[in-house]
Amino acid sequence: MNRRRFLLALPASVFTSTALARESTARFPRTSPVPGGVARISLGAAGHAPRVRLGTQRVLVMRDGGEWVALVGIALATKPGSRLRVEAERPEGGMERHEVTVADKAYTSQHLKVRPGQVELSAQDLARYERERAHLAGVLKTFSEEAPSTLAMVQPTPGVRSGSFGLRRYFNGQARSPHGGMDIAAPVGTPVVAASAGRVIDIGDYFFSGRTIVLDHGAGLLSLYAHLSGVDTRIAQNVAAGAPIAKVGATGRVTGPHLHFSVYLNTAAVDPALFLPG
Ligand SMILES: [Zn+2]
Repeated sequence: MNRRRFLLALPASVFTSTALARESTARFPRTSPVPGGVARISLGAAGHAPRVRLGTQRVLVMRDGGEWVALVGIALATKPGSRLRVEAERPEGGMERHEVTVADKAYTSQHLKVRPGQVELSAQDLARYERERAHLAGVLKTFSEEAPSTLAMVQPTPGVRSGSFGLRRYFNGQARSPHGGMDIAAPVGTPVVAASAGRVIDIGDYFFSGRTIVLDHGAGLLSLYAHLSGVDTRIAQNVAAGAPIAKVGATGRVTGPHLHFSVYLNTAAVDPALFLPG
């Protein structure tokens, strides 16, 4: 190879290999078997993807190079030390069992003292909340067969990310469910974009989360955007990663404008930061 050809060839090949390396490491979330985390299970190389279940819920399976991997979302309420039993059904027949031992992760607790009447909902609000909770639980069970091509996500709105995922809040000593999302501080009206390519499967105006959108990215990977001031999409619409879908707001039960962003895997709210760069 003469010197000129070498110089021309080098930058191109260096660029290609680093770009590929970056892509293959960023395609998957950072994994660790903790409450609110994602466990990775190697399933070997088969011609077709095994079907994987955690209890009754299907689990996301993707190809990683020569092998299939299952990515299991671990619910925040899971006790450290407990074992998750994951079943993989081989396409050629036969069942394989995998066990995930859940490791500990310390999340912050926050104790708040408020006037007693302030935390209890009226009978009417409670009935509304129960209805909406049942509806959202149904939405979060969505499992569409086609797995996403990447699990890498873009931050849905610019702004400071709070590290409050998993925060355990106590009002007058009474535990609330842990915070299942990331809060991003941004002024009302700031555009909100789809964190990944997907389909709009729910749009609602709910007691706690206000105006809310849920996207289905495939194979049980969902994202949820809450407290919106405006919704710029419609149900069943397919959206590209980074496409505008809404505006930041302060709807629902909030103390100020921000985006609440949640990511779900097999119905478990997992830490959105695991899917974002940096
Ligand atoms: Zn939040």
